[in-house]
Amino acid sequence: MSAPLILWLRQDLRLSDQPALAAAVSEGPVIPVYILDDEAPRQWAMGGAARWWLHHSLARLDESLRAKGSRLILRRGRSAEILAALAEETGASRVHALRHYEPWWRNAEKAVGKTLDLCLHDGGLLLPPGAVRTGAGGMYRIYTPFSRAVMEHMPPAAPHPAPHRIDGPAHWPTSDSLEDWALLPTKPDWAQGFAADWTPGEQGARANVADFLDEVGDYPTARNLPSIEGTSRLSPHLHFGEVSPAYLWHRIESSGHDATIFLKELIWRDYAHVQICELPVYGSENARRDFDALAWRDLREAGGDFTAWKTGRTGYPIVDAGMRQLWTTGWMHNRVRMIAASFLIKHLLIDWRHGARWFWDTLVDADYANNSVNWQWVAGSGVDANLFTRIMAPLTQSDKFDAADYIRTWVPELAGLPDGAIHDPDAHGARPAAYPAKIIDHREGRERALAAYRHSKG
Ligand code: FAD
Repeated sequence: MSAPLILWLRQDLRLSDQPALAAAVSEGPVIPVYILDDEAPRQWAMGGAARWWLHHSLARLDESLRAKGSRLILRRGRSAEILAALAEETGASRVHALRHYEPWWRNAEKAVGKTLDLCLHDGGLLLPPGAVRTGAGGMYRIYTPFSRAVMEHMPPAAPHPAPHRIDGPAHWPTSDSLEDWALLPTKPDWAQGFAADWTPGEQGARANVADFLDEVGDYPTARNLPSIEGTSRLSPHLHFGEVSPAYLWHRIESSGHDATIFLKELIWRDYAHVQICELPVYGSENARRDFDALAWRDLREAGGDFTAWKTGRTGYPIVDAGMRQLWTTGWMHNRVRMIAASFLIKHLLIDWRHGARWFWDTLVDADYANNSVNWQWVAGSGVDANLFTRIMAPLTQSDKFDAADYIRTWVPELAGLPDGAIHDPDAHGARPAAYPAKIIDHREGRERALAAYRHSKG
């Protein structure tokens, strides 16, 4: 039997359209391995909600591998050390993996490549960063021209089906037990609500794509309405690589609907990954350095407001509904993510990094590129960003995007209020005693934010 190949799995937990797997299978027996994340610096260690997802995704992946004659080996530690030990133990000649762009994964790839024959493949994005460049040869920093350039290269190459069979080595190396990794919360089990909403794994992802095909025609308007399921809810599946963006692109195009707006949203994901390649500290530093001068409120003073935001008790129903949806399901509607993030940054004048960290821990789709780029987009500190001075009015947004039923679902104290009063119960004298008063007046928050911004400009 020829020497086995190691398949190093990370955020690419699928068998179809998986170029690293296809390459390994074509060379010999394959040892698929997933190494738990000791690679990321402590502040970016995988958050609690994502760990819940990971547990289920790995379990499904192992089942799919076993159906093809293979299995998933689980190990824990630094990738370079674990892979070197595994290669030594099994006589593996080479490691195949998909490329990933989080700074810690790029460092790990360098470290692995120093001692092993590491063969990296593209396939996590529509186009690898650098595939499209500006006229001057640089990376695009602004989304619109980037998107236009990507569109010129679309559709992506047709996706490949999963291999029929995946041969394994004569002797399988040992594996950790998934249960021993304790990825699921226990005391308390705050993820109880997750299972009702999500089916992690490749099959769940594909079923989700199939369901969305009928809805993609309504996406341009429906995507902004939190009260209905108008978006694909594919973000955690895409983050964990349970479905490839190329597969998604081709399926969506085959729907017969004009899907341009949806596909442009998918390009935002590529755009965000290009930005973290250009600026790996995007998650912890302002991309526009002039924002370093902005005097955020100290959490020792603003801690109560931060807690009210995290727990959905700000007195702004749309913000509270979003934060409670996040806590209960590990996901929040995009329009509401923008409103809730803007409220934290501007109305509460709390540094975007605190909000991004909370999302990191609570989102099942927590993604270093998407989270960092979007938080900085809302803050105004991103390379391509909304102006800081353009301050979203949460109550107007709630009314404009018809969030009444969304609020009824997530803020049961307000469920009995009519549409006219639910967006701003205080203003209609309709606030039940169980629901908090606004922690800050809209105009007061707005003025404070603008004053801080002006002050930062000197
Ligand atoms: P759809 O509207 O169906 O879009 C399809 C896919 O396109 C998404 O699954 C996603 O992969 C991609 N996409 C859509 N919008 C964006 C966007 N603005 N930026 C990048 N990719 C996009 N998305 C994450 O995947 N992980 C995060 O950690 C994350 N944090 C965010 C934080 C803030 C403050 C904001 C405003 C947005 C954040 N987003 C994040 C982007 C966006 O909110 C989610 O991707 C989207 O809500 C996921 O739902 P969906 O799959 O139904 O999206």
